[in-house]
Amino acid sequence: MKAFENFEVWFVTGAQLLYGGDAVVAVDAHSNEMVKGLNDSGKLPVKVVYKGTVNSSAEVSATFKAANNDKKCIGVITWMHTFSPAKMWIHGLQELKKPMLHLHTQFNKEIPWDTMDMDFMNLNQSAHGDREFGFINARMRRPRKVVVGYWQDANTLARIAVWMRVAAAWADAQDMVVVRFGDNMNNVAVTDGDKVEAEMRLGYHVDEYPIGKLVAVMNKVTEAEIAAMLKTYEAEYILADNVKEGGKDRQRLVEAAREEIAIRKFLESKGAKAFTTSFDELEGLDQLPGLASQRLMAEGYGFGAEGDWKTAALCRTMWFMGQGLEGGCSFLEDYTLNFDGEKSSILQAHMLEVCPLIAENKPRLEVHPLGIGGKNDPARLVFTTKPGTGVAATIVDMGNRFRMIVNQVDCIKSKALPKLPVASALWIPQPNFEIGAGAWILAGGTHHSSFSFALTQEYLEDYAEIAGIELVVIDKDTTISNFKKELRMNDVYYMLNKALS
Ligand code: MN
Repeated sequence: MKAFENFEVWFVTGAQLLYGGDAVVAVDAHSNEMVKGLNDSGKLPVKVVYKGTVNSSAEVSATFKAANNDKKCIGVITWMHTFSPAKMWIHGLQELKKPMLHLHTQFNKEIPWDTMDMDFMNLNQSAHGDREFGFINARMRRPRKVVVGYWQDANTLARIAVWMRVAAAWADAQDMVVVRFGDNMNNVAVTDGDKVEAEMRLGYHVDEYPIGKLVAVMNKVTEAEIAAMLKTYEAEYILADNVKEGGKDRQRLVEAAREEIAIRKFLESKGAKAFTTSFDELEGLDQLPGLASQRLMAEGYGFGAEGDWKTAALCRTMWFMGQGLEGGCSFLEDYTLNFDGEKSSILQAHMLEVCPLIAENKPRLEVHPLGIGGKNDPARLVFTTKPGTGVAATIVDMGNRFRMIVNQVDCIKSKALPKLPVASALWIPQPNFEIGAGAWILAGGTHHSSFSFALTQEYLEDYAEIAGIELVVIDKDTTISNFKKELRMNDVYYMLNKALS
């Protein structure tokens, strides 16, 4: 897959020399065949590169140091073909900085009942070798994903593929710059947080730029650039009459194009992958850059409104993981509630900024007044979201750690909003509105979220594992009493965590 073609995952096979050089030669041949099979399966988004067997502490350390220093390497898959005494892994595992997947599989699928002898047993020891390796990781409290299954099975490959996408997004986040036009919305708590901890823990860097710096770029946008952008709008969307050429609000669309072109240039000049805006920080702009935010999200720029840099970064990360998958993703906000018994739901929207990747039909491009921000009427894409199951996620700062909250949600058919011309989704949180919204509120979840149709909770579990942050999942099995216990236990765990490791 093109999006991930510059990445590699290294495959490292654990063995030992107890059974002689011939055994290691056989282990090597099996590993080569397995890695070839993984790559030829067509199910894995990232190329697997076999890095040989490791048979000693020095070899483990050398291999993992090389993984750390290799820019293309986004993670390491380990597998114990024979018994691999795990003290030899300690120093290497202490050094390893890249995400790790421990694959518990076996070269042969079934027991060769009629021919199996002691030589075969000495060679094929994953059943106990992987448990020895599991112990040392558990003992060292190392984050990792354990995938169990035959290496050719679809389910095994699918779980490796999920982890690969997450590892790729993790690599992408390590040099992520988030540009904020303006600060956090005054007085808002949940979207704020510790940006130093975020850089240490999650990798990305957050910078603020006064909107005047963007205005300077806007002033240099040419008429030719705007004309080309308007042609793009006309090709991709259904334009309302008032924004068509000659329409009374055409100039608003021209100004929206100017803002979009300038923001894209600004982000490119900073090497940024995500950005935030604020309706409180629009001096020198014609309108809230709603259309720009929608279209830049669709290109993969993470977005957060009102200075919400954590959600902006998470939107980028979730977009990155989902590249090439069916679905789409967006920044969303819990907008208003619809009480309707079993079908009680939450309308998801924002003032304007919802990503067209989740649209059911071709979006309409419209200009309407906006009763906030004190600027001209902004352009925006208007659409409703396709039905289906997705996942909503957020990260909040609990003071001593980041907490990721994940909720599986079912998007249902929305109704027309003739007096509220914005893009929107309508969802029922799992297991139902009462428990889903209740658990989210107990956990301190934001009113903003990063939503994806393409991802499942497994992606975000893998992400939280790699990042070493708290994860709470709200799904069909959630009960409020168990969820409250989990939150309390997590509080204790994160207080003691440093003492344990
Ligand atoms: Mn908001």
